Amino acid sequence: MTTGTPGTVDVARETTSAAHIGFDVGGTKIFGVVTDHAGAVQRTLREPTPAGAAPLLDALAAMAERLGAGSRPASVGVGMAGLITLDGRVTVSPNLVDVDGADVGSGLSDRLDMSVFLDNDVNCAARWEMSAGAARGVRNGVMVSLGTGIGGAFMLNGEVLRGSGGLAGEPGHMIVEAGGRLCACGRRGCWEMYASGSALDRMAVERLGEGISSRAVTAAAREGNAAALDVLDEFTYWLALGISNLCILTDPEMVVIGGGLSEDWDLLAPSTDEHVTALLIGRSAESRPRIVASEAGELSAALGAALGGAQSQSAALGGAQSHSAALGGAFSRVT
Ligand SMILES: [Zn+2]
Repeated sequence: MTTGTPGTVDVARETTSAAHIGFDVGGTKIFGVVTDHAGAVQRTLREPTPAGAAPLLDALAAMAERLGAGSRPASVGVGMAGLITLDGRVTVSPNLVDVDGADVGSGLSDRLDMSVFLDNDVNCAARWEMSAGAARGVRNGVMVSLGTGIGGAFMLNGEVLRGSGGLAGEPGHMIVEAGGRLCACGRRGCWEMYASGSALDRMAVERLGEGISSRAVTAAAREGNAAALDVLDEFTYWLALGISNLCILTDPEMVVIGGGLSEDWDLLAPSTDEHVTALLIGRSAESRPRIVASEAGELSAALGAALGGAQSQSAALGGAQSHSAALGGAFSRVT
């Protein structure tokens, strides 16, 4: 998706060194990355996320200036936590302060005097995983990002699903327990209340005592502590419950796990796989989807935003599908 006035992309300046800028706007920090035309990372920046829409837009414009280092970028893409409409508005973003309802796409487009690509952060991460990460070659997959909440993205027939208004792919708010725990969205029993990083923190305190963090639980589980392993078994059951629902809906080849807990995926995978296998219907163990960790870690959404911006700009310059596809295929892996 692009916002802003068509024709504002300056073709003559396309061959500058600062080619494609991508941002990942999260609740506490903004990651910025600039790549060359082949997608290789040139520079990265990390800044705290300010409160309010206008300060956020000012911060992004200033970061774009620094990432460009005096050169006008060919494209700018932004991945943001929250529900982002196709026309670039943030409808709800529970982790960003005073940004709900803001027209971030147009606001940033005006500040930079160019079209800006805007999408949900996990949609952006999924775009990168399909291009250069864990889901290379995958046409039908699901991404699940386990952090404070649970973000998600559907990869369908090689594209990231946006839905009729841009709001598709929010599995964290699937209700998995009717009348269950109260979620920040105002409803009860949402998946992220049981299978996010925050949910594991809560389980750690409830089962093992005050002050015990999820990090302490995973560390103890790695040493074979039975109580810690029990907590992880309960956690991975809830995780598998949601994953199996997503698999029954979309029949994916692969499920990519992102977010902070993906770092412990080697520990969580065996038990999650076991529960998913027990919960799935109509599949043999051989035909169930592979569940793997993201390969880009914290940069995947920023890189995916840069990729989305590059593809969107390429399409705006005349629908050069082959150029767009080649760029997507070449977008750099993080090393
Ligand atoms: Zn919810």
